[in-house]
Amino acid sequence: MQKINKKEFGQIADGSRIHLYILTNQNGVEAGISNYGATLVSLHVPDRNGRFADVVLGYDCLHGYVDDKAYFGATIGRYANRIAGGRFSLDGMTYTVAQNNGKNHLHGGVHGFNKVVWNTEHVSNHKTSALRLNYLSKDGEEGYPGNLAVQVIYTLTGHDELRIDYTATTDQETVINLTNHAYFNLAGQGAGDILGHELILHADRFTPVDATLIPTGELRGVQGTPFDFRQATAIGARIHETHGETDRQLLFGKGYDHNWVFNHGGKSNISLAAEVYEPESGRVLEVLTTEPGIQFYSGNFLDGTARGKAGHTYNRRDGFCLETQHFPDSPNHPEFPSAVLRPGERYSSTTIYKFSVR
Ligand code: BGC
Repeated sequence: MQKINKKEFGQIADGSRIHLYILTNQNGVEAGISNYGATLVSLHVPDRNGRFADVVLGYDCLHGYVDDKAYFGATIGRYANRIAGGRFSLDGMTYTVAQNNGKNHLHGGVHGFNKVVWNTEHVSNHKTSALRLNYLSKDGEEGYPGNLAVQVIYTLTGHDELRIDYTATTDQETVINLTNHAYFNLAGQGAGDILGHELILHADRFTPVDATLIPTGELRGVQGTPFDFRQATAIGARIHETHGETDRQLLFGKGYDHNWVFNHGGKSNISLAAEVYEPESGRVLEVLTTEPGIQFYSGNFLDGTARGKAGHTYNRRDGFCLETQHFPDSPNHPEFPSAVLRPGERYSSTTIYKFSVR
């Protein structure tokens, strides 16, 4: 039996009441989602002995999310990741968006989709529990053109999958790149660093960046570099390597903070992009997506200042993100898969986070 419970989560400064929706499946897996930022607040999954833990970093209270600068669990938009210099052109017009990450634009700007209130609807049937969140991003919001109607559906399946379906339409040509910014720790949030997690990325190439994390445009082979995760490898195994040409990339990112190019990505079919295994708990996370890329971010900028759930503070590399996406700065890279959405078209993107044990 699947269900959704709705709870009060607090109120924000403009008086909006914020809720927490708890989706539960028949195996006891539980996902908590808030209409503030369409945020994944909690995700309880079992280990190999059937013991449940919350495997995403975050806060106990709403004000944690209001003050948050790390994007814990949030839906990111209108454009996830960076846009160089906060500028792009569409149809001969130049648009400027906030330079909120050095001179670059990051994660939709100062007041991105992670900081807005979404309208919610339950869409459950006897098989699955789903929560639909809607948001209308007005023409000019954060500098982006076009009224963009966005919908995010979180579905918890009976197979311990959290499925996220994103769709959007616009009335003017615009750019769009939506993702979820959950930080995972498969040993449980607050259990320390993630360097022992074993990662597979089904990607032969990644997009190297400059010192401000903007892609150079090259698609570089991962073979023989610390970016090769085609075989299961501990996240920490090569994170300090600095001897090769490509290793300098790890200095720019202060660790992994790069976009990998999926071998089977960007088709309308969903395919397996990443797998993570945590040896102590036995928990396994598989990431399937329709997107062409993924930002694997090893939590390098976590600095212990955020007061997280149950009094935990999150230090450097206590969580990792696998942000399914179009490539960073695509609006300024015509050679990358296009992130342009036009009137009459429908943006659609699906990502599944599937849990199991080994
Ligand atoms: C970016 C990091 C950034 C982080 C913010 C990631 O998606 O790639 O560079 O610091 O988001 O929490």
